[in-house]
Amino acid sequence: MALFLKDVGPEIPWHLSAFFPAYQMLEAEPTDRKTLLRAWEIGKAAGLRYVYCGNLPDIAREDTYCYRCGKTLIQRMGFYVAFNWLDHGHCPSCQTAIEGVWDNKNRSVVTEVQTR
Ligand SMILES: [Zn+2]
Repeated sequence: MALFLKDVGPEIPWHLSAFFPAYQMLEAEPTDRKTLLRAWEIGKAAGLRYVYCGNLPDIAREDTYCYRCGKTLIQRMGFYVAFNWLDHGHCPSCQTAIEGVWDNKNRSVVTEVQTR
């Protein structure tokens, strides 16, 4: 999967969400932390620029980093953006353009991630 996504475009975000049994899937096993982190490593090793773990209390793997210099660009806390250091869609450290549609408002404040 990771190699397929990378071949389509390394800028495609890959969200890996931990599963927890609920409703009619109570017998299914929850995703263990080790498996989710291994999937994150596989995505990064494949060359994907933006791999995210979700539904897991691990702030570091929810964040967006500059794929060129590694600077933290967006720090997330669950569904919230805690800090946004992007400068008009560019890394403030190396000025690399970061793929996506970015709002330069509400930088460095906790703001709810907009969903449809
Ligand atoms: Zn950078």
